[in-house]
Amino acid sequence: MTKEMNSSNFIKNIVIDDLKNGKHDSILTRFPPEPNGYLHIGHAKSIVLNFELADEFKGKTNLRFDDTNPTKEDTEYVESIKEDVQWLGFDWDNLYFASDYFEEMYDRAILLIKKGKAYVCDLTSDEMREYRGTLTSPGKESPYRNRSIEENLDLFGKMRNGEFKDGEKVLRAKIDMASPNINMRDPIIYRIAHSTHHNTGDKWCIYPMYDYAHPLEDAIEGITHSICTLEFEDHRPLYDWVVNECEMLAKPQQIEFARLNITNTVMSKRKLKMLVDENVVDGWDDPRMPTIAGLRRKGYTPESIRNFCRAIGVAKAASTVDSQMLEYFIREDLHSKAPRAMAVLKPLKLVITNYPEGQVEMLPIENNPDNENAGVRQVPFSRELYIEQEDFMENPPKKYFRLFPGNEVRLKGAYFVKCNEVIKDADGNVTEIRCTYDPETKSGTGFTGRKVKGTIHWVDAKAAIPAEFRLYEPLILDNETEEEKHFLEQINPNSLEVLNGFIEPSFKDSKAHDKYQLFRHGYFNVDPKLTSEDKLVFNRIVSLKSSFKLNK
Ligand code: ATP
Ligand code: MG
Repeated sequence: MTKEMNSSNFIKNIVIDDLKNGKHDSILTRFPPEPNGYLHIGHAKSIVLNFELADEFKGKTNLRFDDTNPTKEDTEYVESIKEDVQWLGFDWDNLYFASDYFEEMYDRAILLIKKGKAYVCDLTSDEMREYRGTLTSPGKESPYRNRSIEENLDLFGKMRNGEFKDGEKVLRAKIDMASPNINMRDPIIYRIAHSTHHNTGDKWCIYPMYDYAHPLEDAIEGITHSICTLEFEDHRPLYDWVVNECEMLAKPQQIEFARLNITNTVMSKRKLKMLVDENVVDGWDDPRMPTIAGLRRKGYTPESIRNFCRAIGVAKAASTVDSQMLEYFIREDLHSKAPRAMAVLKPLKLVITNYPEGQVEMLPIENNPDNENAGVRQVPFSRELYIEQEDFMENPPKKYFRLFPGNEVRLKGAYFVKCNEVIKDADGNVTEIRCTYDPETKSGTGFTGRKVKGTIHWVDAKAAIPAEFRLYEPLILDNETEEEKHFLEQINPNSLEVLNGFIEPSFKDSKAHDKYQLFRHGYFNVDPKLTSEDKLVFNRIVSLKSSFKLNK
């Protein structure tokens, strides 16, 4: 794994200090997804950060499912998350479920009640909002705040036993209703939810809130550095309060960094789930999705995603990364790895009238001009070929160097051909072009007689394999959106173009996830879901060129 881009950052500096001054002997980080959707590229940033940080300092990383909300979680998501983390190239030290700690969390809540630090509250959610106050005005104490410890213990026990309905009561931390930090105004730490949990079934009908559960999960596991995104910065005093008041032995340190945002996409599981549920895409792994599963299916490699995550860096300031930067890293990764191939996506028949009928020659074409060791393959060539429709124009503009009547071009790795005749259908569409070839101009023969300005690619009409090519554009047209309605209205209607073309016969036995650089078209991946015994389907990962420049 190359780490050249794994430069310094403020979190690493904290770790270095903590190890140097003996606060910790070794570090333990965690990646704590909630299993309520598939992982996206934003999660990849957090995964790479946590795992590589621990790795660099010979520490460890846990994968922990933060499954404290029974209504949204599902084992399908648990399985997909495990698969994606492994595929990205990371091995967790331990795999845990927050729900395995429910008993201990309950016991710690009893401890808080006994210390007079938590109480059962009967305010409705509307009332609670009213009592909470605002950023500029203090909150008001709940009339239930001074219930006796005995009464609180009794009511909390009854909450657990299912004696109340959803929303009827909550357990709140007793902190400070006048705190300038709203998170500290007696936050809810337990709520009632009579629903079946993916892991604990119907054992529980009360569930801990994130702000209470998360610090306990970290402390139970002995996490040293609990890295989370910036929106939890104001929750840190509560995080520390929970760890201290619950008398946890380990004192994890919460550190916040800016979450990753990328242009022309949405990056929240809630929104991604809407795209799936509304059938805007064909599942969480649709190649247009910014999910790890979608990027994998499109053809991204784990290396390219890791390198991207290292390059964007870790900072406190929120920023949005150009989606072209992600494309830069897959191009960079596939440039030397992906074999070259010729494919015609929008075919036009080309007949070489002076080429002997029935003759087939095998022409050697290099597999990768940038990698000598990649060797050559033999590509069949005969009288009838396909070229791209756009490589022929009957009335070309100036500077069009491809085929037009009377013009000569090189067929990549083969001969010069000259267009002599255009065949059209009844509607005037060009259906075939007729050319003559010059046998003297065979590629690799050292022919110096004439020069041509254009080289176009081709496939042999008889030998080529029919294939489907899927070209993608961004799913979201404009990223300047916060509201749901807005973002579903900004779906790009042309985000997918499906073309039926042909590829050279040597790629007939391609397998799911084989990746090629198709001459002049870009990098493609064999789609693992749509490809079948009798049909090859390719996803375009990225085109060949971009004006994007990486500032290194
Ligand atoms: P979402 O809003 O997409 O559901 P989340 O933060 O609710 O994201 P979790 O499953 O709770 O998703 O996240 C697991 C970890 O991944 C958390 O530590 C979270 O901070 C981190 N994470 C989530 N989204 C991003 C992002 N865009 N950039 C960096 N880290 C992220
Ligand atoms: Mg979430």
